[in-house]
Amino acid sequence: MNIVTRFAPSPTGYLHIGHAYSASLAWKMARESDGHFILRMENIDPTRCRPEFEAGIYEDLAWLGLNWENPVRRQSDHMDDYAAILERLHSRDLLYPCFCSRAEIAAEIARSNSAPHRPEGPVYPGTCRNVSDAERDRNFNSGIPYALRLNMDKALTSVPLARLTFKEVNKGVIQCDPAPFGDVVLARKEIPTSYHLAVTLDDALQGVNLVVRGQDLFTATHVQVLLHHLLDLPTPDYLHHGLVSDMKGRRLAKRDKDATLRSMREKGYSVKDVHKLIGFS
Ligand code: GLU
Repeated sequence: MNIVTRFAPSPTGYLHIGHAYSASLAWKMARESDGHFILRMENIDPTRCRPEFEAGIYEDLAWLGLNWENPVRRQSDHMDDYAAILERLHSRDLLYPCFCSRAEIAAEIARSNSAPHRPEGPVYPGTCRNVSDAERDRNFNSGIPYALRLNMDKALTSVPLARLTFKEVNKGVIQCDPAPFGDVVLARKEIPTSYHLAVTLDDALQGVNLVVRGQDLFTATHVQVLLHHLLDLPTPDYLHHGLVSDMKGRRLAKRDKDATLRSMREKGYSVKDVHKLIGFS
């Protein structure tokens, strides 16, 4: 198989050594199969994404010796695409507007005491799912900002659970279980898409047949496979790799400034040193 894979960072910080591993692994697999390596800017959030981080990503990847196909798909340039697929889901009555603020959701969860928590955070208790048409209209008319959520129960009735599977490289077929995620947001209040929606469409539009990304996104795959089925998009194969830890064994995060490729470069590390740290020969 000619692997078409991608590295899809969000320019909300500088790349660190964990990103170097993910991008290098994807690049290597594409190259070894005579396939394609795609770079995608997941910059849907204008409040967190910054041009200097985007420039830093190009610079760091080039420094690592990676090359990618141009033009780079920048998600912020394609909001119309996301709006069009939202419309498809909306026309099947699979979405509903959610007017809740974060504080209201937290209060509702505290009140109900039974709302499940997931590693990604608490599950939305469904407050806005069953509001009356009159209340919904009142909220629209008052101009309260709203997100669009997927009605998970309804979505799951339209796809047989047995079809919600994906192939994990070296592990085999994984059965998805998206229900515990609840009514996920598919369009945020200030942004006409969400991570799940944009990533799902883009992987399909770009012909990605293998998603190489960190184990931290393994659970997101359950939701994204459901979206593939709801939107008649193909499900790629997945390789969720282990996360790179720092010298003390802690998982690296963007806030760990010392582990950014940029700061390593400034401290005199060579690409060879980085390769050694991430186990690439
Ligand atoms: N943009 C996501 C991130 O930077 C990664 C998305 C993905 O690989 O699916 O965490």
